Amino acid sequence: MNYNLAVVAGDGIGPEVMEQNIRVLDKVGKKFGHTFKYEHVLGGGCAIDKFGEPLPQNTIDVCKASDSVLLGAVGGWQWDTLPGDKRPERALLGLRGALGLYANLRPATLHEALKDACPLKPELVEGGVDIMVVRELTGGMYFGEKGRKQTDMGEAAYDVEQYSVKEVERITRTAFEIARKRKKHVTNVDKQNVLESSRLWRSVVLDVAKDYPDVELDHLYVDNASMQLIMRPTTFDVIVTGNIFGDILSDEASQMTGSIGMLPSASLGEGSLGMYEPVHGSAPDIAGQNIANPIATILSGAMLLKYSFGLQDESKIIEDAVAKVLNKGYRTGDIMSEGMKKLGCKEMADAILEEI
Ligand code: NAD
Repeated sequence: MNYNLAVVAGDGIGPEVMEQNIRVLDKVGKKFGHTFKYEHVLGGGCAIDKFGEPLPQNTIDVCKASDSVLLGAVGGWQWDTLPGDKRPERALLGLRGALGLYANLRPATLHEALKDACPLKPELVEGGVDIMVVRELTGGMYFGEKGRKQTDMGEAAYDVEQYSVKEVERITRTAFEIARKRKKHVTNVDKQNVLESSRLWRSVVLDVAKDYPDVELDHLYVDNASMQLIMRPTTFDVIVTGNIFGDILSDEASQMTGSIGMLPSASLGEGSLGMYEPVHGSAPDIAGQNIANPIATILSGAMLLKYSFGLQDESKIIEDAVAKVLNKGYRTGDIMSEGMKKLGCKEMADAILEEI
């Protein structure tokens, strides 16, 4: 198969980790008989420098016309003083909106070889942590009506939490479909004891679940979920939740994995087109030194193969190669520990390529 990929490498370490991602995808393509064509476009600070705006129309057009999008990271101190709507990060929100990406997938996987880096007691993570947080990305109070008003208590501000049946239905289906490819267990997180929006959310989840009798479903209130994640992380499979709860819980879950340099993410919409990126930012403090960890970005490439193109074996070969390299004791600086072998960004990708 031939696939056209739009590449927004971005700023800081974005271009260096993306270069390694592309080397890995090309090797997998060669092995399995696929061709990946890349169209590089500007987004973030580099686009501000060249075109005066973080997300030029051409970037949107190329991404929309592609089979899927790879993103590095955007941002940096050079652009920190710009007003909010002119900042590099607008490129992320703009692309998510333009591409209709409403589901954010944030896996939190603790590799056996990195379990010492997990801040939890070893007995709590015995058996492995492998959680997929499926967060609704375009609704809830981040996008609801907001404003200020005068009250008896003085000036007040509000952000409205609102969800429609359709919004909940589509994110729930995404979560159930993903669970079917994993351990067939969905945990719905809401706050239906207090919030009307959560009561609607829960009722839609229960309705959708009828179409997935093979998938186990349970429910947690968000406050309890944040405790259970710490107390029994190995028992979770897929977590589905709204925008603000997902924002917080995905960061909490990610802390079990050792380093931000290990965490990929995906944003999906109705079709197969998605946007795949590392969770970390542009890390300007280490940019251009060949010391960034490329694994988060390489694993986001593995997610692209799995979730946009349905290439399970191709995706797994990358995930397995990363696990093997870690088991052999290879580390970048951010995950380095005593007795391990320290590699640069490119050399880490070389080691992964060797295993594919
Ligand atoms: P950051 O994730 O860029 O860096 C935080 C720390 O983690 C830094 O010490 C950095 O060196 C380290 N780090 C990050 N990725 C690493 C990797 N792959 N390998 C090794 N170490 C790594 O977060 P920040 O410093 O808060 O933000 C820097 C810039 O990135 C800001 O402009 C911010 O707005 C932007 N940002 C962009 C995204 C994105 O593009 N999705 C996400 C977060 C932050």
